[in-house]
Amino acid sequence: MNFHILTLFPEMVLQGLGASIIGRASEQGYIRIEAVNIRDYTLDKHGKVDDYTYGGGAGMLMQAQPVYDACTAVQERIAASSGRRARVVYVTPQGQTFCQEMAKELAAEEDLILLCGHYEGIDERVLEEVVTDYVSIGDYVLTGGELPAMVMVDAIARLVPGVLHNSDSAVTETFGDGLLEYPQYSRPEVWRGRKVPEVLLSGDHAKVDEWRRTQSLERTKALRPDLYEAYLKKTLQFPQ
Ligand code: SAM
Repeated sequence: MNFHILTLFPEMVLQGLGASIIGRASEQGYIRIEAVNIRDYTLDKHGKVDDYTYGGGAGMLMQAQPVYDACTAVQERIAASSGRRARVVYVTPQGQTFCQEMAKELAAEEDLILLCGHYEGIDERVLEEVVTDYVSIGDYVLTGGELPAMVMVDAIARLVPGVLHNSDSAVTETFGDGLLEYPQYSRPEVWRGRKVPEVLLSGDHAKVDEWRRTQSLERTKALRPDLYEAYLKKTLQFPQ
């Protein structure tokens, strides 16, 4: 899968996504991440990409022209190699809230363009022309779209086959089946007087599975009653 991040701060996203599991997946070719500097596309001779907002108000706004030209150049490259147009996600606090379901849906795309705003955001006219999806990472306002884009790339990329070495982990994890994951333990068996639950040492896989299932349900009910209700509704509708 190819991620194309349109940003004024390419070094920020490349550094953030160049390490650990996502960095290794890029090196091994399971995903490709390019950061396109919107400033490279401005026609302003001083390299300016922002200006005051009409009607007054605090702050600067990213102008339509460089964003449009950067996005068009990436779409043209994608079309030349795949014959398709990519979805363009504008990360914005005004969008639909990002979630695991959305990550799963976007992981099926071959190419994905993520557009990062800065300052007061981006001129509405170019958003109307190029954006297909408006996505927020939560109800708070950040200074720029780079962190949201990185959050999305991380969550989506780990669902791309080959990125996680143990592909099971994406399925059994929190949100995998609509529940929170069960508690987990590693060595030693006793730490500061706290013992690992006996059943996990028993070697009885059926009992371990049953214990984990119960823990998942109890934990979800206690910590995320909203998810628990949704899970119950779904299982009543479509019993397993
Ligand atoms: N004036 C905008 C508003 O009130 O909706 C907020 C602009 S914000 C300071 C600058 C940029 O950060 C936005 O254009 C967007 O790309 C990004 N951003 C900020 N908070 C975000 C969030 N919660 N989710 C996704 N992107 C966000």
